[in-house]
Amino acid sequence: MSGIQGKVVAITGASSGIGEATARLLARRGAHVVLGARRTDRLETLTKAIVAEGGSARYRQLDVTRREDMDAFVGFARDTFDRVDVLINNAGVMPLSMLEALKVDEWNRMIDVNIRGVLHGIAAGLPLMKKQGGGQFINLSSIGGHSVVPTAAVYCATKFAVMAISEGLRQEAGDNIRVTVISPGVTESELAESISDPAAREGMKAFRRIAIPADAVAKAILFSIEQPADVDVSEIIVRPTASK
Ligand code: NDP
Repeated sequence: MSGIQGKVVAITGASSGIGEATARLLARRGAHVVLGARRTDRLETLTKAIVAEGGSARYRQLDVTRREDMDAFVGFARDTFDRVDVLINNAGVMPLSMLEALKVDEWNRMIDVNIRGVLHGIAAGLPLMKKQGGGQFINLSSIGGHSVVPTAAVYCATKFAVMAISEGLRQEAGDNIRVTVISPGVTESELAESISDPAAREGMKAFRRIAIPADAVAKAILFSIEQPADVDVSEIIVRPTASK
């Protein structure tokens, strides 16, 4: 199947920001979207809005750090729509701080959500896509997956890891499974709200002034899905024109 019409697309972290914008856009273009996140009140409201517009959407509570949750989420999508064409590993957190602040719990949370969450998605999705004879993983990295800046060492490390895991998956997954990395620059979302460190929070303010809308990233995701099945868009970097 090529194009977007009728594809079953499961999206982690769909309760806000890029995940939410992607759900809205893909549903408008005829995909069946299955939404996962922890805040089910948000997912319920979004699902209702998509359905009210004539789209096809379902949701299920999901904590990507729990492997059994991810298995159940992907299983729910398959049971509801018979298959999963695309799994978007989008859930992520970014509590920035200098290493010397020793916010070890926040380092662990980034590793759990940003790396383990993606691995859990692969563990749930890969056997199914192999059985179906095809599919696509879309993993959210970042421009922070290409370079490191102060306060972002651990966050960038998780996004470098997403790059490495995605490249390995692309090489190993087989001829009918596409693997796409989407690497946004600063984008309007709730991501900076997870920053507890006052200096890092202040530092983000200048960046946020040039943020691009989440819909710009959703359009890059749509582009990668719409390509013919034998065309794998390996990575798209999408960032503010004003970023240097
Ligand atoms: P948001 O904070 O708006 O969205 C993050 C989403 O992740 C939320 O829906 C949140 O839902 C979900 N999430 C967080 N923890 C978990 C968890 N344990 N289990 C399931 N879902 C979880 O940020 P963005 O939309 O910006 O982030 C989306 C992705 O884009 C992330 O991977 C981020 O690193 C990446 N990115 C963002 C950039 C930006 O500038 N915005 C730039 C580069 C990359 P809930 O809390 O309901 O569980």
